[in-house]
Amino acid sequence: MKVYAMTCGRLRARKNIFIPDADKNLFIETPVPIFIITHPQGNVLFDTGPHTDVFKDAFARWGGLAKAFQPVGNESSGILSQLAKIEIRSGSIRYVINSHLHFDHAGGNEFFTDATFLVSGKELAFAKNPDNEGKGYFQADWNHPLDYQKVDGELDIFGDGKLVIVPMPGHTPGHQILVVRLKEQETIILSGDSVPFKEHYYDFVVSRNNLDNDQVLESVKNLHTLVEAEKAFLIHGHDPDQWEEIKKAPDYYG
Ligand SMILES: [Zn+2]
Repeated sequence: MKVYAMTCGRLRARKNIFIPDADKNLFIETPVPIFIITHPQGNVLFDTGPHTDVFKDAFARWGGLAKAFQPVGNESSGILSQLAKIEIRSGSIRYVINSHLHFDHAGGNEFFTDATFLVSGKELAFAKNPDNEGKGYFQADWNHPLDYQKVDGELDIFGDGKLVIVPMPGHTPGHQILVVRLKEQETIILSGDSVPFKEHYYDFVVSRNNLDNDQVLESVKNLHTLVEAEKAFLIHGHDPDQWEEIKKAPDYYG
C-alpha cells in the first residue's frame, strides 16, 4: 500500500483567515492536497480538490468566494491531471472520501462516477440546506448522480484496520479524517481542515473559517490522543511549509 500526495494547484488567501493574529496584509499560497492510497483491495482517494474550471474563471463557479480564495494554477492543476501523473484512471478509484464538502475538497467529485463516496451523513445534510449554498458549499461540486454512502462515526473501510475514517467535526458539522496504517508503527493521518496548519495542532490556534470553534478545540484534543497513541505522522490540510517537506519524501509521495 502506498500513499501519493499531490496538490490541485494552490489557493492565494490572507494568512489571517487561518491564523487570526497574522498581519492582515500578508497573503499566502496554500496547497490544496489530494491523496491516493493504493490498498490491495482498491484505490482510495481522499478529497477531490477544487474543480478544474476555477483555474480559468473562479468567479463563474465560486462568485464572491473567489476574492478570498484565488486559485493559482492552470488547466493541468485539476484532479484528473494529478491522477494521470501516477497513471491512475478515475475509473479505477473504488472509494472517494470527502473530508468535507467545501469547494476545495469536493470540486472534482463529478469525475468519479464509478466510485463509492464515503461522506458523513451530517455533512451531506448540511450541504443540501439551501441556506448554506455559496458559503463554502456549492451544489455544482457535489450534487451529481454519484454513489454517496453516508458515514456516521468511525469506519474501517476494508475491515483490516489499514484505512479508518474518524469523525473530526467543527470546521464543518461532518468533517472527517483518515488514519492510514501503512505498516506496523508507520501511520499517517490525513487531517483535512481539522488542523490546516501546524499552529492549529501544536498551539491550538483556531482559524476564522470554522462553523463551531468549541467543537474544533474538542476535535483537536481528540486528534492529539490519536496521533500520540499511533505515533502518527500528521499531514495538515493547507500548510505551505509542511508541504515543502512532504514533497521531499520519496518513499510515500508521488
Ligand atoms: Zn480546505
